[in-house]
Amino acid sequence: MRAATAGEVQTVLGPVAPDLLGLVLPHEHILCDVTPPGIAASAGGQQVEINLENVHEIRYHWVCHYGNHILDDVTVAIEEVARFERAGGGAIVELTICGIKPNPAGLAEISRATGVPIVAGTGYYIEAHAGGFFTGCSVDQLAHKMIDGVKNGLGDSGVRAGIIGEIGVSDPWSSAEQRVMTAAVLAQQETGASINVHPGRQPFSPLEIVRFVRRLGGDPARLVISHLDRTLFDVASVARLLDDGCIAEWDFFGIESAYYPFADIDLPNDGQRLNLIQVLVSQGYGSRILISQDICTKTRLVRWGGHGYAHLIEAVLPMMRRKGFSETEITQITELTPRRLLTLV
Ligand SMILES: [Zn+2]
Repeated sequence: MRAATAGEVQTVLGPVAPDLLGLVLPHEHILCDVTPPGIAASAGGQQVEINLENVHEIRYHWVCHYGNHILDDVTVAIEEVARFERAGGGAIVELTICGIKPNPAGLAEISRATGVPIVAGTGYYIEAHAGGFFTGCSVDQLAHKMIDGVKNGLGDSGVRAGIIGEIGVSDPWSSAEQRVMTAAVLAQQETGASINVHPGRQPFSPLEIVRFVRRLGGDPARLVISHLDRTLFDVASVARLLDDGCIAEWDFFGIESAYYPFADIDLPNDGQRLNLIQVLVSQGYGSRILISQDICTKTRLVRWGGHGYAHLIEAVLPMMRRKGFSETEITQITELTPRRLLTLV
């Protein structure tokens, strides 16, 4: 299988023409282990068994039950991704990278079984998860790894990445993580792929990242800042960020709980996310907004009582229409912007 060239999208099964993608989920996990440090040990390595009596508790307090963050069953994943395909879904961007147990060969198997194009990421998650891999590495070593992931394949899987990220940034942004970001910019310049970033939770983190990338000569128009749902809460701060030229992503669609385990904030629900996005669209930012679900726990999958990968299609699109988003605006957000970002330049 050849590598994709400029003008093409690189999926786990090879190059695809951009206009074949359809509706894209630009930030998901299909096979991953995002277990927060310490949770496995406190559970004695025993994974929780999810049943009707505990599923609410696990969904609500989703970080403290060992096993909930482990998605490692390819058969289950095929069923879940097939639901997305049956609902009319196009493609999925899978951002499981070093530190959260990527399985590129598994993604290729899922894509083959479901017919859903999957674009895999390359790079390093936050140091708390991926530090063992990169803390001692130089910028050049890190950049080489990411470039190799796009050009030749991830590890020895032969499966190539089509995007860089989600690159992890903590609070405070560690010097090793800054080296990773510097390497990501070099990899972007070398491969023509976009960068997706998991920002720190402090409200200044997204802008700090965009300016950092800009100073290094990176292209902010091909830089996606994820997780705005838990980072910036008002139109003015998002507009200030977008005025610096990046792409803003709300990727917690489907999480309807105000409770957020990692910070003292109130998470918005789907309706509130859309209200904020709608104002930004009316101000002319419609071509720099992405929406996704960032599924990384069992309780968000249909198999364990969750909404699954089709939630955006089945619940969010109807809500967008009810709120008065035009079909043009919806197509821009769910098809055209992800297509633009996934097309290698
Ligand atoms: Zn993610």
